[in-house]
Amino acid sequence: MIYKDIYKELELFNIKGVSNATYLKLKKLNINTMYDLIYYFPRAYDDRTNLKKIGELRGDEYVVLKGTLMNISNPPTRTGMKMIKALVNDGTGVLELVWFQRPYLKNSLKIGEEYIFIGNIKRGYNFQMINPEFKLFKGQKNSGEILPIYSSIKELNQNSLRKIIQEALKTYMDLFQENIPNEIIKKYRLMKRDIALKEIHYPSNSRNLEEAKRRFAVEELLVLEMGILQKRFEVDLNNSGKYEIEGKKKLVSKFLENLPFSLTLAQKKVITEIYKGINAGRIINYLVQGDVGSGKTIVAILLLLYMVENGYQGVLMAPTEILASQHYLSIYETLESLGIKVELLTGSVKGKKKDELLKRIEKGEVNIVIGTHAIIEDNVIFSKLGLIVIDEQHRFGVLQRKRLRDKGVLANLIVMSATPIPRSLALSIYGDLDVAIIDELPPGRKPIKTKWISEKEDEERMFTFIDKKLKEGRQAYFVASLIDESEKLSAKSTEELYEEVLRNLPGYKVGVLHGRMKNKEKDEVMHEFKNGKLDILVSTLVIEVGVNVPNSSIMVITNSERFGLATLHQLRGRVGRGEHQSYCFLLSSTENDNSAARLKVLESTEDGFKIAEEDLRLRKAGEIFGVKQSGLSDLKFIDIVHDVKTIKLVKDICTEYLNENNGKINNEVLQSDIDEKFNKSLTS
Ligand code: ADP
Ligand code: MG
Repeated sequence: MIYKDIYKELELFNIKGVSNATYLKLKKLNINTMYDLIYYFPRAYDDRTNLKKIGELRGDEYVVLKGTLMNISNPPTRTGMKMIKALVNDGTGVLELVWFQRPYLKNSLKIGEEYIFIGNIKRGYNFQMINPEFKLFKGQKNSGEILPIYSSIKELNQNSLRKIIQEALKTYMDLFQENIPNEIIKKYRLMKRDIALKEIHYPSNSRNLEEAKRRFAVEELLVLEMGILQKRFEVDLNNSGKYEIEGKKKLVSKFLENLPFSLTLAQKKVITEIYKGINAGRIINYLVQGDVGSGKTIVAILLLLYMVENGYQGVLMAPTEILASQHYLSIYETLESLGIKVELLTGSVKGKKKDELLKRIEKGEVNIVIGTHAIIEDNVIFSKLGLIVIDEQHRFGVLQRKRLRDKGVLANLIVMSATPIPRSLALSIYGDLDVAIIDELPPGRKPIKTKWISEKEDEERMFTFIDKKLKEGRQAYFVASLIDESEKLSAKSTEELYEEVLRNLPGYKVGVLHGRMKNKEKDEVMHEFKNGKLDILVSTLVIEVGVNVPNSSIMVITNSERFGLATLHQLRGRVGRGEHQSYCFLLSSTENDNSAARLKVLESTEDGFKIAEEDLRLRKAGEIFGVKQSGLSDLKFIDIVHDVKTIKLVKDICTEYLNENNGKINNEVLQSDIDEKFNKSLTS
């Protein structure tokens, strides 16, 4: 067998004692390949040297403890579900144990006996251990062995899993050759792969376990970052000096003269920095971060304009058609008056019209193409593409960026994101990008007044207030929280919300916008709202990013506890864009502490960076904006919030390695891991 076989279906291997039925059960645990199996690492260890004391429990932790069973009962439940409750005492405190649907335990557990219990501690009104595993403690001393505890399922219990993995390790370990280049292993004193695999499943001591964990954290990141940076390196290498920029700025100046405002210092700073990069002739890759409303669009346009007047074509890409056509409508007149050809290319452009457009783009008759991701996904051919600007980066991940480079699209790349994260984290997450920050809002913006509304009476008062504002000529957004028809819960659909708005605000013109509408219909509704033909827009999250209607000064978000901080911040950013005082109402009757904390953060600040930091604190890493698409959230051994240092380290390791090896990876094993990772991620 060869190395790549580790990514093949388990059925192709011969593991002692594993039958066809077992494969099916393993699939339930998402174990499909040999790699999945060997890399199915324990979620905890049965380490008798390290028993937890009940008196020291904090909740939400996975523990092993030893205690005497004091009491056991099977109280009735409302739902008729079978439940067993027991109390255990270890001399430092008493803990409640609960099992569901295992009535037989009543007879197998013996009061007065000592047991080892293993499981998760939940903190509710009191501490509880739900469905713990247990073993009778027979006075045996610690055997010195630390046993793995895998996430198991009913059909495949702890013991079977241990056996299968042990057999696989015995027979197929040799396949898992070292995938970290030797010099890196040496320099950073990493544990070797074969030893680390043994140690992660059956640690000889806790120090070795820590070393094994460190190794796998580095390994996992290395495959991702090396893949990304390798491509970046290649592109840079092939393209230094490719761009000749004369540095003409006539059109840019003209455009600025016609602008009804002057740029903020922050906008100027970012533009200058990027001009410089472009002038240097190296292909640039920038992440431009700027809070909602900081004026990123103008920055994008000025950069595009600069490329155009120096002989190149440019692309502005948005995550939704609404946003793309909004960009198009807002700039094409100004640009056409400067003699620049701008066209809109989205999924709705079809047939002959599309063919013609594509031809014109190829001939270089179109200077700037605005559209959705369709632009790069289709085989659109440019005559001389110089700059791609991607708006709202958090919808456009690292894998797509890599795909762009893989396709050999040679162009400067700027991604813009309104969901700021601290710079150090940004640099780590977006390993292949430079970061520039627009850290200032245009002057004169009035803070948005934000209120969390939980009582019916307050809601009624809110409607009266909105009625008054609408009479004054303002407009309002109402956001429904039902994202997916399948999650009915207590969330409102747009239809329900529409009815409710009509009832409470009779006499106004109300439009509806949701994801299932045709693009043309969406455009029409958006257009009518923009032109003031609609007073109220009831919408789903489709308006989350980018939508700009300055006269709309009221944002009402229903079931707001259902959204994350970043989304709420983005939604709120739809108002506060004009001269009028704006208001954001967060409707929610939540009693959940975490949700309440989120809503309070929004009430107290509008600073996107502060909100981002709170988000880091309140949420799990995988849910932070930008992370899902970064490729980092799939990582098993890295928590991007707490492991920023490791991320930075690995990025440095990769950069150094690629520089020293002229962009080549001299380790076939690593190269096949990279290929595997990116192929899989791109097709799934
Ligand atoms: P975002 O950064 O959220 O994409 P936009 O680019 O949509 O923000 O800009 C928000 C609003 O601010 C727009 O109406 C835009 O015309 C305006 N704007 C941008 N820059 C400035 C500035 N320097 N001074 C005043 N208004 C500005
Ligand atoms: Mg924007």
